[in-house]
Amino acid sequence: MNGKILEIENLTVSFDGFKALNKLNFSLDSGELRVIIGPNGAGKTTFLDIITGKTKPTAGQVRFKGRNLRAYSEHQISQMGVGRKFQTPRVYLNLSPRENLELACNRVKSVWNTLIRRSPIAERRTVGGLLETIGLDHKADMKANLLSHGEKQWLEIGMLVAQSPDLLLVDEPVAGLTDEETERTGDLLLSLAESHSVIVIEHDMEFVRQIAQGQVTVLHQGSVLCEGLFDDVQRDPKVIEVYLGQDAEHVEGTAQDAIRAELAS
Ligand code: ADP
Ligand code: MG
Repeated sequence: MNGKILEIENLTVSFDGFKALNKLNFSLDSGELRVIIGPNGAGKTTFLDIITGKTKPTAGQVRFKGRNLRAYSEHQISQMGVGRKFQTPRVYLNLSPRENLELACNRVKSVWNTLIRRSPIAERRTVGGLLETIGLDHKADMKANLLSHGEKQWLEIGMLVAQSPDLLLVDEPVAGLTDEETERTGDLLLSLAESHSVIVIEHDMEFVRQIAQGQVTVLHQGSVLCEGLFDDVQRDPKVIEVYLGQDAEHVEGTAQDAIRAELAS
């Protein structure tokens, strides 16, 4: 488990001349859980789009498990072991959690996976084990459209895990969840981090506090503004300034104080 699973050098992504990512450098250790925060428009989603191959770099490179990803399609990168959880759950609502997970597990048994990626972990992933991991064993056979928003999120996380990705990318998993669901999502991600490398993008500072046990990366204007432990990052004047700078356009002084309090609490 030693070494870097992801290495990104001088990554630039231009959209008609506008640099959504600008000479960004980043690396992730195998087995690490990293939280990425940053104001709206910082480039967080674009960053994930690059790792998954949805968008190709204008300059710079991304190496996953030592391989430059430039030549690979989105589908190939997913087969290589990059799994992405989108913000909106993509589960089959007319099927039960068990049936959704069975489908996800069967997808793994493609020829490619049998030949190339047959891993002991993949063999051990059973539908029953996954249902337990995501806390839906008691709702395994009801239609997924009867699940709460949080439960649908967990089901989709379970479907991703069924594919045994080495790297799990999770974009704002707690938007719209209740406090209790948020905390359980944090627990789930922490337990998945025991056997996967994970990148979580998040806005909710209370949630970041719960899951950020190691390094937090702050993105701003397409580059890394700073990196460090959450306690240090949230006190960094540069970070406070970019968060306040964004909100200052929309809110009055008292609300700014509230944001400052949220960042510092
Ligand atoms: P975040 O997820 O941090 O809010 P994004 O990565 O979505 O930020 O966007 C970063 C910047 O790049 C934004 O200013 C956004 O408008 C711009 N951008 C993102 N995708 C495109 C695109 N396909 N074409 C043009 N501009 C884009
Ligand atoms: Mg985004």
